[in-house]
Amino acid sequence: MSSTKTPSIQQTSLPRLLHADAAGQSAPVVLGLGRTFSFKESGDGIATITKTIIEGMLKGQRVRWPATRALSGCASRSRSVHAGWRPGLSTLAIETSCDDTSVALLAIQRDTSSTANPHQLRTHVAYHERVTANSAAYNGIHPLVALHSHQTSLGGLVADALAKNAGAKPSFVSVTRGPGMRSNLTVGLELAKGLALAWGVPLLGVHHMQAHSLTPRLCSTLEILPDLYQGPWDPTSLQPSFPYLSVLASGGHTMLVNSAGLTDHQILASTGDIAIGDCLDKAARALLPSDLMEPPYGKALEEFAFPNGAADYNYTAPVNRGEELTRRATKWGWSLGVPLADSKGGEKSSRRMVFSFAGLLTSVQRFMRQKVTEDGTITAELRDAELISIEERRDLAREVLRVSFEHLVSRILIRLEDTVGRKVKPVQVDATREIDTVVISGGVASNRYLRHLLRAMLDARGYAHIKAIFPPPNLCTDNALMIAWAGMEMYTTGYQSTFDITPIRKWSMDPRAEDGGILGAEGWIHDGNPLPAVQKSQAITPP
Ligand code: AMP
Ligand code: ZN
Repeated sequence: MSSTKTPSIQQTSLPRLLHADAAGQSAPVVLGLGRTFSFKESGDGIATITKTIIEGMLKGQRVRWPATRALSGCASRSRSVHAGWRPGLSTLAIETSCDDTSVALLAIQRDTSSTANPHQLRTHVAYHERVTANSAAYNGIHPLVALHSHQTSLGGLVADALAKNAGAKPSFVSVTRGPGMRSNLTVGLELAKGLALAWGVPLLGVHHMQAHSLTPRLCSTLEILPDLYQGPWDPTSLQPSFPYLSVLASGGHTMLVNSAGLTDHQILASTGDIAIGDCLDKAARALLPSDLMEPPYGKALEEFAFPNGAADYNYTAPVNRGEELTRRATKWGWSLGVPLADSKGGEKSSRRMVFSFAGLLTSVQRFMRQKVTEDGTITAELRDAELISIEERRDLAREVLRVSFEHLVSRILIRLEDTVGRKVKPVQVDATREIDTVVISGGVASNRYLRHLLRAMLDARGYAHIKAIFPPPNLCTDNALMIAWAGMEMYTTGYQSTFDITPIRKWSMDPRAEDGGILGAEGWIHDGNPLPAVQKSQAITPP
């Protein structure tokens, strides 16, 4: 791809140039003036690389780009990363992958604050609204109800957004292309195509899970920094910079991801049965008193478990894996087993990089239905749910939250540990950089107890130096702002979509997957050239 393109260094932003080599690692990048450049040292910083290019151009040398992974890492830490983000660049974004219909308008702006740092990238949210389908009458999301909600809500939201923008057209249109329910995605995708065609602007089909993973980087650019970004802060780069670990904990997904670059999100663990959000929703439906039963059930469960917020937590993190695997007895007889703790193969097997929440949910449902003896044995005798006290229900709510969250965090800890000799030290993900950030997003990440528990577990296990980042709750659940941001990151890196793209129901974001991940889909254009669908492993950046 890159060898067929001859962008001028004056016309093309540095990030675009850096990613121009993404699909053709070995091909030299040809710049203006007909010169070709290459680099041998992958650890070069952008400043060094730029200097070398310019010196090389002046001398008429051929210069080859270094490995993309090194570039994407240093690009995200460099001031130059903002070169392609011109003020005035804006996108209208649409999200319809599941049961939330959402529209956003996001624009790049200059930093006009008194402490302005000319390198600070700033975004302005001109519009952001969401309508959630009302599936309360059903046990979970009803696809037809969600579809009807998109069909009836989307037009109005777009009209509102345009009114806010005084009818001005955005620079390009971003829309969720997948993964998600195909018919629901179609509602957003076809309207996005129509708008982009009418305006004569580019279209960008966004990967929904990539958007979740990139959300904290959006947060770092917002005009008002969310409170989670208080503390050490480098205003000269997008934060967090790659690589970082992200956990996506939602109603449909539970994944631990190593985000190494814009399109390189390696899935380290995902759920073997149900998603954590699904588990908490169904546990809530089993144990909440009927007057408190309202969606989102995970939120209702948190409010019921901890009516006084943090004052009710009383949480002590397990100091080692053994303690973490120990079942905690309760005065009610029942106790919740730790997922995978009893798997065949003992402790070793319990460290498999997989999540499991189905057993936990079954236990909660059974404890609400059947009597348990003092020694913890479940009997066949049924309970009268009406007679189960608020106190017992509350203890069960706290326990299901604690056990499911400790399980979620346990895979982060396993990833962070150096398993050789079980010596605890941060994982080296590349020669130059350790992971120093863990991001939690998805609807379940809005849970305040999870935030507390993650921090406590990291501290107790020797990872006090690891930053834990939680996007604000309204950006944790499905929303169009994250689609706008992912669109911005892709667009400023040179990507666009063709107008024949179709929704993708299942779409990995891992370039190692069979489908080739984000860039494996058909319909990408990069720096004006059609990008052939990338096959498995071709898109992986070198180790
Ligand atoms: P998403 O699929 O990302 O839109 O997230 C929806 C899921 O997040 C549902 O399972 C909700 O019940 C869950 N959720 C929302 N708020 C909370 C909360 N405060 N605690 C736990 N789960 C929550
Ligand atoms: Zn989502």
